[in-house]
Amino acid sequence: MLVVMKQGASQEAISRVVETIQDMGYDARPIPGKQRTAVGLIGNDGRVESARLEGLDGVLEVIAVSHPYKQVSREWKAEDTVVTLANGTRIGGSEITIMAGPCAVESEDQIVGIARTLSEMGVTILRGGAFKPRTSPYSFQGLGEEGLVLLARAREATGMAVVTEALDPEGVELVAEYADILQIGARNMQNYPLLRKAGRSGKPVLLKRGMSATIKELLLAAEYLLAEGNDQVILCERGVRSFDTHTRNLLDLTAIPVVKSLSHLPIIADPSHGTGLRAKVTPMARAAVAAGADGLMVEVHPDPGRALSDGAQSLYPEQFRELMTQIRVIAQALDRRVGSPRTVEKALSS
Ligand code: PEP
Ligand code: MN
Repeated sequence: MLVVMKQGASQEAISRVVETIQDMGYDARPIPGKQRTAVGLIGNDGRVESARLEGLDGVLEVIAVSHPYKQVSREWKAEDTVVTLANGTRIGGSEITIMAGPCAVESEDQIVGIARTLSEMGVTILRGGAFKPRTSPYSFQGLGEEGLVLLARAREATGMAVVTEALDPEGVELVAEYADILQIGARNMQNYPLLRKAGRSGKPVLLKRGMSATIKELLLAAEYLLAEGNDQVILCERGVRSFDTHTRNLLDLTAIPVVKSLSHLPIIADPSHGTGLRAKVTPMARAAVAAGADGLMVEVHPDPGRALSDGAQSLYPEQFRELMTQIRVIAQALDRRVGSPRTVEKALSS
């Protein structure tokens, strides 16, 4: 339930609404907006007596939030959420934000080298897994903490922000010490203890859609993060299982405009895991931006043939450079722009 205040409602009036909600036995969460403030009522089971709130000073209306995901919904917050990182990079709003890097951190040369290359191309967020969720227990599982240390070195060398995966609740604290964004992988989208821990980590979270998750399940998984007080959440469409074997997954581009209408959270696309095939990454990346994605996550490796994971879907740096050029043109047609390298230069010089 949402208590919408009149424009210019006084701080006292807002406080009175908060106190009343608490007195009714619920949690209150004020949501300041450009036009007016709203106060969210959390923890109701649909049978709240709204008349007590409607009668309070400064209250415009009380609306029931119809979706089961409350704080994630556009009913709860009409304006787009913009996630802002320490290096000045923004995700959401008018910018299109690119995250790129190898599937996994493999060595210092590999990660610092590719970070320099990508940063020169205007990428401000470096991806790279240190803890890898692999289908086979015999595949490379990532460098673990050493991988996190190497990511931090790449950040130091370039000013890029770092996004990397936390595999389990026990690992959240450690990953949060190094990462600018915590990634929750597709396999863990409904790992609720992990979501709760990530929600309390104080770090922005990138939540990837589960491989057979509905859009509603994705939004409800995000609700776990917001319910813990973390609204710095980025959603990611990375493809769902289908009956077709030509591609690794079916990148569901329809999810992008659907999520954008249902939620205020930014949504990016991952055409690398979405297709599993290097030659299909660029066309689907272009399509995702055209569909309204707030950004992309793309796997790029200095030597994909020797990659320890996901080499077949990793772009060569020069292919990625071309993709960036094309994305800039598409962004312009949509009156958006791709985050500029100046953000990183600024971060490095400050
Ligand atoms: C990844 O991005 O490294 C990854 C494992 O992706 P997903 O969780 O989407 O499979
Ligand atoms: Mn991968």
